[in-house]
Amino acid sequence: MTYTNQTISDLKQTSPAQAEFYQAVEEVLNSLDPILESNSKYRQQAIIQRIVEPERQIMFRVPWIDDNGDIQVNKGYRVEFNSALGPYKGGLRFHPSVNASIIKFLGFEQIFKNSLTGLSIGGGKGGANFNPRGRSNNEIMRFCQSFMSELYRHIGPTTDVPAGDIGVGAAEIGYMFGQYKRLTGRYEGILTGKGLLWGGSLARKEATGYGTVYFADNMLKAREDSLEGKTCLVSGAGNVAIYAMEKLYQLGATPISCSDSSGTIYHPNGIDLELVKQLKEQQQASLIAYIEKYPNAKYTPTSDYPSDGHAVWRYCADAAFPCATQNELTKSDAEELLANGCHLVCEGANMPSTQEAADLFVASDIAYGPGKAANAGGVATSQLEMAQNASMQKWTFEQVDQQLQHIMENIFVTANETAKEFGQAGNLVLGANIAGFRRVADAMIEQGVV
Ligand code: NDP
Repeated sequence: MTYTNQTISDLKQTSPAQAEFYQAVEEVLNSLDPILESNSKYRQQAIIQRIVEPERQIMFRVPWIDDNGDIQVNKGYRVEFNSALGPYKGGLRFHPSVNASIIKFLGFEQIFKNSLTGLSIGGGKGGANFNPRGRSNNEIMRFCQSFMSELYRHIGPTTDVPAGDIGVGAAEIGYMFGQYKRLTGRYEGILTGKGLLWGGSLARKEATGYGTVYFADNMLKAREDSLEGKTCLVSGAGNVAIYAMEKLYQLGATPISCSDSSGTIYHPNGIDLELVKQLKEQQQASLIAYIEKYPNAKYTPTSDYPSDGHAVWRYCADAAFPCATQNELTKSDAEELLANGCHLVCEGANMPSTQEAADLFVASDIAYGPGKAANAGGVATSQLEMAQNASMQKWTFEQVDQQLQHIMENIFVTANETAKEFGQAGNLVLGANIAGFRRVADAMIEQGVV
């Protein structure tokens, strides 16, 4: 049995029914053979067995009262995965699909992503199976207050600093921050993604989407190409997708699709970004409203599409930016993209490509930027928010954006050089996984068996 198979088999015994978590572990371990073979210290120190086990997992009840006066109960999570490099850092996700497996896969990915940024941040993730959709503002506030009434005991500016993720934007961060302050009496940087009036950083909102596009730009520059004039398929219509589209336009490319959980818009003239912002950021409406203004754009409801594929990847374009959710790009989607001449895939979402799809991209000669590297701009800018909070400073948008560009370039160079070092030039999956792993693993060894 290979080392990876043995680890997955052990995890299935000790952490049953966590398919997404096994998938994330397998994806990382598959890349690590070269470094595990050339460095016996990682095996002697049982680094793999230690790194796949979270340092701490917190699961809690989140009771709250809806607008009808009925009691609702959700499940809350915070997985503090690894603190070898700094305080746990990673977002909170509020979505009905949230369970221990999803939070563990996200927390595991976060360890290596945070390591790759070169900053002093450990890995964690949290959330709840709460669906904010269709809930009133007051319901969302009561939910957030109840969630924080437990979470506050476990977080702190030097221990664990959560941020947003799917379903957690500025409003939710505000309600949770307010409750933390009320419970503890302390005004401190325990969350990032805060409002600009009270400790937030300029450019944090834009950072993940912009950073993903900067990463794509770096991949293309290394191939003596650029984004100028490229057509791009984008999935999602949330925070990451919107600001990826904004940066694509700024760099001369044209996003021609976007999607939400109900359907996909294909608009070959170029997506009207202001309309998408209005629908999603202001009205929380479905993308179907897009075709009221643009009847020539094509709308495909998700329910019209077979389960093994997604409409958004079935169009011809130079590049693809999956920015919605995990496993949203399957093997058949990948085959279609490659057959249609797509020559760059850059992941804004976490683990959007299934393992089979990712394997196809790696085996082809396209530029493929895995989420762990390509979407690290969000967490990196969260760390810049922490730095501003700690030093009581406020940097300009340009200062933060410049640092973001610099960090994304460094991540690309690190992943690219590491891939070359291990004889697999161009394989950024392998490069990102090994580089992220090496920094955390070496820190764990230096800190002893803890
Ligand atoms: P948002 O909640 O802002 O947006 C998510 C978008 O994806 C929404 O438009 C949502 O549709 C859509 N979506 C969700 N599920 C599906 C689905 N099954 N099919 C099609 N569309 C879907 O989240 P973010 O933009 O913040 O996050 C997107 C991804 O990026 C996630 O994987 C997240 O973990 C990752 N990420 C986010 C970071 C951040 O800073 N925000 C940092 C790093 C990674 P609808 O509008 O219908 O809900």
